[in-house]
Amino acid sequence: MIMIKRPDESAGAYTGTGNKFLRNISPEWMWKSGTSSCSSLRIGIPRMFFYYIYPGLWEAFFSELGMKPIVSRPSTTKTVEKASQISETEHCLPNKLFDAHLAELVGKVDMVFVPRVLSTIKNHLSCPKFGPLPDAARADIARGTEVLSIDIDVSRSPLAEALLLLGKKLNIQKGKTLSAINSSFSAMEAAHKKMARPDRIKGAPRFLLIGHPYVIHDNFIAGPILNKLESMGVEAELISFADNTPAKSYILWSTANKIYHELNTLSREDYDGVIQLTVFNCGCDSMMIDTYRQLMKDKNIPYIYLMVDEHLAQSGIDTRVEAFIDSLRWRQ
Ligand code: SF4
Repeated sequence: MIMIKRPDESAGAYTGTGNKFLRNISPEWMWKSGTSSCSSLRIGIPRMFFYYIYPGLWEAFFSELGMKPIVSRPSTTKTVEKASQISETEHCLPNKLFDAHLAELVGKVDMVFVPRVLSTIKNHLSCPKFGPLPDAARADIARGTEVLSIDIDVSRSPLAEALLLLGKKLNIQKGKTLSAINSSFSAMEAAHKKMARPDRIKGAPRFLLIGHPYVIHDNFIAGPILNKLESMGVEAELISFADNTPAKSYILWSTANKIYHELNTLSREDYDGVIQLTVFNCGCDSMMIDTYRQLMKDKNIPYIYLMVDEHLAQSGIDTRVEAFIDSLRWRQ
């Protein structure tokens, strides 16, 4: 059972009868309090960032409200081609992919959902690139399609409160929104469990794959590496972000805090090695890689990082992964 504090009526930027955003969505159901006339709405969800940070949550939430969530397709080389045509060249790869996923949905749905994810762990921060995402979407790629947004700032108020406000924006009855929140939290819990654990391969070397959730679960970025590891009979377990309890550390970036905590608690018996998957132009990772590497060195756990950009070549990845795994086999 989720305990939800009454939301601050003044907190939402889009609440209030004079609000332009809600009028633009649909004047009819904006003004009919407590109705669900938006139930046939198709809500587009870009398969990037918040889709993986809160796995399963958004589809379950919108479905429970009687809407039709439509998620963009998994990333492929075509997504990357599209991204290179429409996105800012200086963006990190996930941000470019986000733009392409958003573009895929524009014109095919009634609204696209782009939350402003400011913090996912209490007293910690998300990457600053998440802050302007809804505004950038409205100003550029999603122009002409409504952008539905909420602020997720767990440092200020729980996620459930943000979802309650989202239901209110969609003019859904409070009871129905509360029920959708409960169901969507259960869906997220189940999705987290499913995402992290591979089927155990008896006697196989076991590695921990670390990285941002939208990096290690993206088909284009992580797919070739996971395929290669599988073809070599290596078991890769993906780091889980299911537990939202902040670890006691000086690292205030949410993802980095979780990764650092996970590495800090590892022992040589847990895994044969750690593979970090990172992307070109990630400011956060560029600050953290040396810390992770030193931590693993102190624990005598083999560590490698693989950097992916839009020119990902399977052969380049294969060579590095093979060299790393083979060097460990020779060591044994
Ligand atoms: S943390 Fe890195 S990969 Fe993620 S959005 Fe920020 S810069 Fe991009």
